[in-house]
Amino acid sequence: MVPKPRYLQKRIEEVDIGTFKSIATVQETATVYDALAIFVERRVSALPVVNEEGKVKALYSRFDVINLAAQKNYNNLNMTMMEALSSRACCVEGVLKCYPHETLETVIDRIAKAQVHRLVLVDEADVVRGIVSLSDLLQALVLTPAGIDALFS
Ligand code: AMP
Repeated sequence: MVPKPRYLQKRIEEVDIGTFKSIATVQETATVYDALAIFVERRVSALPVVNEEGKVKALYSRFDVINLAAQKNYNNLNMTMMEALSSRACCVEGVLKCYPHETLETVIDRIAKAQVHRLVLVDEADVVRGIVSLSDLLQALVLTPAGIDALFS
């Protein structure tokens, strides 16, 4: 059997793969219009939906915005995030989380099995601490050979 690279056993908190500050989030009581404004301003592909304590409740993605248009719901941009999420018709991309102590291997497995684009990094209280996206993994593991060397050292 081919041995697994050692860096897969590194914890997410040890490797610099993901975004860990200035995470764009949207409150569950905010409107779809608010979410659209954040998408335009921050140019991210998904927003963790949080309660007032910052705990993640769901994920609202650009894909959901497209579905909004497909369902002809775009004339109701005053819907709250909670309403918009409960009216999602299909293909819900659930909120999948990971924790700082989990290994890179666990994170990659979870993304692959669930076929999602990103995991929301949370602390033990479920408060959002970061995002680990396919883009981050691709960048670190494939596009930046020097990055992988740094993980070994
Ligand atoms: P993506 O849009 O998922 O392809 O990710 C592109 C970059 O944006 C990656 O470095 C992600 O970690 C980061 N990112 C994704 N979503 C957010 C977010 N809500 N807030 C801040 N950064 C994000």
